[in-house]
Amino acid sequence: MTFVNHETIAKVARILGGEEAVEIAKVLSQVEEITDEEIVAKTDIKLNSVRKILYKLYDHSLVGLRRTRDKNTGWFIFHWRLQPDQIDGFLTNQKRRILEKLETRLKYEQTHEFYFCNTPGCRQIPFEEATEYVFRCPKCDKRLMHFDNSKIIEFLSKKVKQLRSELSEQ
Ligand SMILES: [Zn+2]
Repeated sequence: MTFVNHETIAKVARILGGEEAVEIAKVLSQVEEITDEEIVAKTDIKLNSVRKILYKLYDHSLVGLRRTRDKNTGWFIFHWRLQPDQIDGFLTNQKRRILEKLETRLKYEQTHEFYFCNTPGCRQIPFEEATEYVFRCPKCDKRLMHFDNSKIIEFLSKKVKQLRSELSEQ
């Protein structure tokens, strides 16, 4: 079994299914294999919720599934196990998606001039749009002043750089 720490597992579980998923992931990490009924007994989470969360984790290959048949009832029994080696891949994909969004936003900030009325709750308006409003805020009607977005650009650049280096290390 690949070593992945509990915090990483909990983080991914939380993204996919909230606190109940964190609890289920914790139970899964303590055993080789477990059935959904056994998880219910250990966590007090309702069977429906347990199954819903397990299938969600399964969709992302974070848990594996083995099926057997109950000799008495003939029904299927599902045995679930954590697949920690898939977690790194999941996190990498997430980071890539965030990086793409940040890069798009950064490019937008770098290629536009912004104007702002300085009223909290109003938005910064790109130059082209501000000319249409004759430099009056469409929301509060105050005068639109040039807005220095260099702090935003600096912040976004830092984040992009950090994510790029994290991704290149993997
Ligand atoms: Zn305004």
